[in-house]
Amino acid sequence: MIEVTDLTKRYRRVIAVDHMSLTVPAGAIYGLIGRNGAGKTTTMRIISTLLHPTSGRVRVGGHDVMVEPGKVRRLLGYMPDFFGVYDDLKVWEYLDFYAATEGVPARRRPGMVSDLLELVDLAPKREEYVDSLSRGMKQRLCLAHTLVHDPQVLILDEPASGLDPRARIEMRELLKELRTMGKTIVISSHILSELADLCTHIGIVEGGKMVVSGTLDEVLYGRTRGRLVRLRLAPGEQTPEDLAARLDHEPLVRGAAVLGSVVEATVDADDAALADLLGRLVREGFPVASFSEMTNTLEEIFLQATAGQEQPAEGRESA
Ligand code: ATP
Repeated sequence: MIEVTDLTKRYRRVIAVDHMSLTVPAGAIYGLIGRNGAGKTTTMRIISTLLHPTSGRVRVGGHDVMVEPGKVRRLLGYMPDFFGVYDDLKVWEYLDFYAATEGVPARRRPGMVSDLLELVDLAPKREEYVDSLSRGMKQRLCLAHTLVHDPQVLILDEPASGLDPRARIEMRELLKELRTMGKTIVISSHILSELADLCTHIGIVEGGKMVVSGTLDEVLYGRTRGRLVRLRLAPGEQTPEDLAARLDHEPLVRGAAVLGSVVEATVDADDAALADLLGRLVREGFPVASFSEMTNTLEEIFLQATAGQEQPAEGRESA
């Protein structure tokens, strides 16, 4: 649904986005993670046709954002990280106003406004003034605003920022519901544990570059370096020390240590090589009773992926 290819955006001396590529399949929730200034907002604004790229290509639903921006805009809704709302409007008037600006005919607007308020759980607040709403409610109203033209794609820049834990949970439930309605969603966030629960795909951005990307499974389990596995032997002739000594001779194993009855090893291998290693150990007579991988959390993967990287390049020429 969204294809970003070799995208670069330069602001005078700053390279905000540096040869970035990513693919978001239809129906996915793609989580864009990165620290402040990593280039998330710039990427999202280019996808949403609000900024021109310096180079590279972005297609949404098959339409190039530079060639057919009108078609792209009809397909997507963009929710900025900072939004202004008209405080002197009632909740229903606010949505009605934006529905009118999107060209929704007057006779269809009352039904649409009610449906949207129901969806974002603001129906009981329809007669209240926007400025009387809590931050979480304003955020949900803003999301309803991006849904007025029934876009297939939603680009949401930090929709949970500044929300208390309860409001965050409500926002997350709402995004899950939008996904079941078939929307394709790109969401940026700093709250990694929430993205792991919500997203089907993850992209980690640092200094304008995509450093890790893929399905959630690929990102969490698809690594081929530094995988930590634990093995435990059934009682018998072979001891955990024998197993650790054997593993230390394995080229794929960086190191093995005995922790009571368990042997912990750090292995540079993909799934196939790991399965092969386990098979060989069993054939050699090690009675492996349990074999498990200690998976990293998204947080740990983010820290590893961004460790030692520079902040966005100032004055650096890109290749
Ligand atoms: P945040 O979470 O803080 O919004 P971000 O990951 O969204 O960060 P961007 O806002 O895309 O990052 O910014 C990427 C880089 O581009 C930063 O170094 C930022 O200072 C710079 N930048 C963004 N907008 C402009 C602009 N209009 N002019 C000059 N530099 C800019």
